[in-house]
Amino acid sequence: MNFLPLIESKREGKILAPEQIQEVIREFTAGKIPDYQMAAMLMAIYFRGLNTGETTALTLAMRDSGDVLKFPRDPRPLVDKHSTGGIGDKVSLPLAPLLACLGFRVPMISGRGLGITGGTLDKLDAIPGYQTLLPATQIQKIVQRTGCVICGQTDTMVPADKKIYALRDASGTVPSIQLITASILSKKLAESLDALILDVKFGCAAFMQTKADAKKLAHAMVTLGNQCGTNTRAVLTDMNTPLGRAAGNWLEVKESVECLESKGPDDLHELVIDCAAHLLVQTKKTKSLSAARVRAEDCLQSGAPRKKWDEMIVAQGADLKAFNRKLEPDSTAKVVVEIKADEAGFISKCDARIIGEVIRDIGGGRLTKESKINYDVGLNHIAKPGERIEKSGTLCRLHAADLAQAKSVVARLKSAFEISPRKITAPKLVHEVIG
Ligand code: URA
Repeated sequence: MNFLPLIESKREGKILAPEQIQEVIREFTAGKIPDYQMAAMLMAIYFRGLNTGETTALTLAMRDSGDVLKFPRDPRPLVDKHSTGGIGDKVSLPLAPLLACLGFRVPMISGRGLGITGGTLDKLDAIPGYQTLLPATQIQKIVQRTGCVICGQTDTMVPADKKIYALRDASGTVPSIQLITASILSKKLAESLDALILDVKFGCAAFMQTKADAKKLAHAMVTLGNQCGTNTRAVLTDMNTPLGRAAGNWLEVKESVECLESKGPDDLHELVIDCAAHLLVQTKKTKSLSAARVRAEDCLQSGAPRKKWDEMIVAQGADLKAFNRKLEPDSTAKVVVEIKADEAGFISKCDARIIGEVIRDIGGGRLTKESKINYDVGLNHIAKPGERIEKSGTLCRLHAADLAQAKSVVARLKSAFEISPRKITAPKLVHEVIG
């Protein structure tokens, strides 16, 4: 293939035909286009953009670059949720078993964290025995039998995205709305979904810092998802503050179990119920969003999703006895330190970016792809904006690898919180629904 004329076309802002895009993806996946030429094409796309037809062709070509999951005909619709990522975002963990109990099948293919945002697979790796890497046949079997699975992309799923994402990372071309849309949706469409809910986050710890940018991305993904035959909606949610009161891999698993036992934090509960409710409406299982919320809430309260969680983790290799033992202690980290307020007042800020950076730096996240994770470190009992705090009240509890490490981050953690003498209204979590 002579790739140069295509790079030049895009450089001049011309529109590529679907067949040209398909050929590029086929040849690049097969190793027949050198990285330097593909990087040039990605940069041309970054500056010139892709129209809707080109983005659709790119997404479908990437989806078809590898295996697409196939499921037998079944009255239970296939659904999933994707989040653009944040701090303390553990929604997938309680949501998958809740959806299974609501009569869905959930082939949830998730990712790992890089940088400050946590990854669902890293959280699940904190569960003794849990296998996140499953072959496609096993994914299909567990979904059919249990109703839900949360695992990683197999080696043969969407290989084009793996190669292109690595190149985007190294060539400064990650923040292109069309490339992000194609990357995220190619993976979700490879799950053969009937409906998809997207949680597009904005704020200081989100991929998209402003609500306006998050809205643009949400619109692009919703339009394309629907065009490709998957009923797609998005919620725009605040990621200036961590979600829930815990951040850090094992602490987030614990909080997810609390959410399934209706003992979790309100914001996490709200988002889990909202995502389930949207999917109930999208798949026409329930007529209105308010009725769907009641249905999801009733299901959660019944205790069935908590049991389904055990069934799901066992199906993926977890040692249930060891898991239950691990849930018992207050902390699995060596050291727990309370971070206390210097004054009384109302929490006016709890900066998710600073908190994410601290957790990454103490080993809870990765600085490079090769970094080894400490699953036990993190924060819990995080005080949230709008809440009253007394002098010496708890801003958060730090779970650290040792005392020296804990001491080294206390000042940074304190700087994440601001306290106002005036009453503060708690910020809302879900700002808009797109689609
Ligand atoms: N997540 C993805 O999977 N792809 C992107 O391009 C950005 C975020």
